[in-house]
Amino acid sequence: MASKLKVIPLGGLNEIGKNLTVYEYGEDIIVVDCGLGFPDEDMYGVDIVIPDFSYLVQNKNRIRAIILTHGHEDHIGGLPFLMREINAPLYTTRLTAGLIKIKLEEHGLVEKTEIITLEAGQHFKAGCFGIELIHINHSIADSVSLAIKTPIGTVIHTGDFKIDVTPIEGGMIDLTRFGEIGKEGVLLLCSDSTNVEKPGYSESESKVGPHFERLIKGSDKRIIVTTFASNVHRLQQIINCAAKNNRKVAITGRSMENIMKVSMELGYMDVPKDTLIDINQISSIPKNKLVIITTGSQGENMSALYRMAFSGHRQVEIDAGDRVIISASAIPGNETTISRVINELFMKGAEVIYDRLEELHVSGHACREELKMMIALTKPRFFMPLHGEQRHLRTHAELAKCMGIAPKDIAISDIGRIVDITRKEIKLGGTVASGKVLVDGTGVGDVGSVVLRDRRHLAQDGMVVVVMTLSAEDASLVSGPDIVTRGFVYVKESDSLMEELRRVTMETLDSCENQRITDWATIKAKVKANLSGYLYKQTKRSPMILPVIMEV
Ligand SMILES: [Zn+2]
Ligand SMILES: [Zn+2]
Repeated sequence: MASKLKVIPLGGLNEIGKNLTVYEYGEDIIVVDCGLGFPDEDMYGVDIVIPDFSYLVQNKNRIRAIILTHGHEDHIGGLPFLMREINAPLYTTRLTAGLIKIKLEEHGLVEKTEIITLEAGQHFKAGCFGIELIHINHSIADSVSLAIKTPIGTVIHTGDFKIDVTPIEGGMIDLTRFGEIGKEGVLLLCSDSTNVEKPGYSESESKVGPHFERLIKGSDKRIIVTTFASNVHRLQQIINCAAKNNRKVAITGRSMENIMKVSMELGYMDVPKDTLIDINQISSIPKNKLVIITTGSQGENMSALYRMAFSGHRQVEIDAGDRVIISASAIPGNETTISRVINELFMKGAEVIYDRLEELHVSGHACREELKMMIALTKPRFFMPLHGEQRHLRTHAELAKCMGIAPKDIAISDIGRIVDITRKEIKLGGTVASGKVLVDGTGVGDVGSVVLRDRRHLAQDGMVVVVMTLSAEDASLVSGPDIVTRGFVYVKESDSLMEELRRVTMETLDSCENQRITDWATIKAKVKANLSGYLYKQTKRSPMILPVIMEV
């Protein structure tokens, strides 16, 4: 008899991003979230990273539902890639569904996908699981936690959450419901670890509004604001403030335009009449009557703000008449790129206001006291920290211990690591296939480790091409060798180094001739080995070496 609940994280542990958690009981599987991650700095040319879905593809006939807690990329961005491989109904709230549809449309998958929209407070069944959506607060509207009823007890999967008792819209988190479920008994709590290192409580979203009011009202400059595209409530506050101060609002950046469109259509945003104008019309409005909201809060390459900073934006040129407000904090790893954009904006004469100077951003994730409150309300038998790097998971486990949960009742898993749960115990079990799949352009998994190694190699040490024309009869040198380098310069005595490379090549060819080696592949390998040895000795660098033989 299958009396074991399995929890299998396929992403989101020991990393930031690509959250995906599998719950499995007997023959039934449900999937919670399907996010993407962003590449590390040494993944040259890779656009996004998605979880390895092989476990789900192998078990696709057992998947009863995919449930999405909210519309952030780290929770829905991987979905189109999963939906190419499997067929299962999607359950989520209305705004999240709207955002998902845009993605599925781009991948031509919207027709074949069944999307069921629900509201917080509603339940549905998926195999042996019964799932209830619970209203919470986060930095995007319509976010939910899940109460998952399994045959051996209830799991609370918080998703990303914070406790905001004065939110902009949608009402405060349904704390009473968490308490009720806690009273009935919770087997397992899987909770958001992002801000476990931050003491106290997170600030309310409504705290940000007055700062905008002051920065917009008190300025005769053009205002350019960037924030996370998905922070609908933040956008609403900026727009309200602009309208109140008789300024028009223009939006630039594809993700921002998409989200605005969906949230206005679905009634998650209420834009005062005649406030929005097209970005192509901004030249007809005096600068001090304008607010431009743009993407690029993380300094993303090619985002609208990045293009403005580097003079590549078609409609917006930055100068001393601009006040640029960055209403976001850096996601770890993005500090350098943001800093470059800020410097460039200052260089163009703009006034830049960012989080080190003003309180222009509040986090969407619960801090320590809120995390404690979640544990206190749900009183779980077992605890599993999710959504964080190792340090966050460990710290969150310590927090749970402080609140009286025994160490043996806490499981810190890893991606691909099964957590086995019975009514009596929680323990780490075996593993399933998991990892990072790299997406480059539209190709999924085309970029393997070899391609990546080559790109890293080229980026670090450049390339040396040796072109030799050899006789087809006896492999003797007819002309060349010619040496071409790219991204590899040895400034000191560069000419003599080229000369030396030519010499090493000729010597190699001579020795091949002496040994009667006429096979092109062998000759290439020898040229490559000798050049690479020589180059390393002389320059301590290992450029990629490409021998090219032309046959006459
Ligand atoms: Zn989120
Ligand atoms: Zn998240």
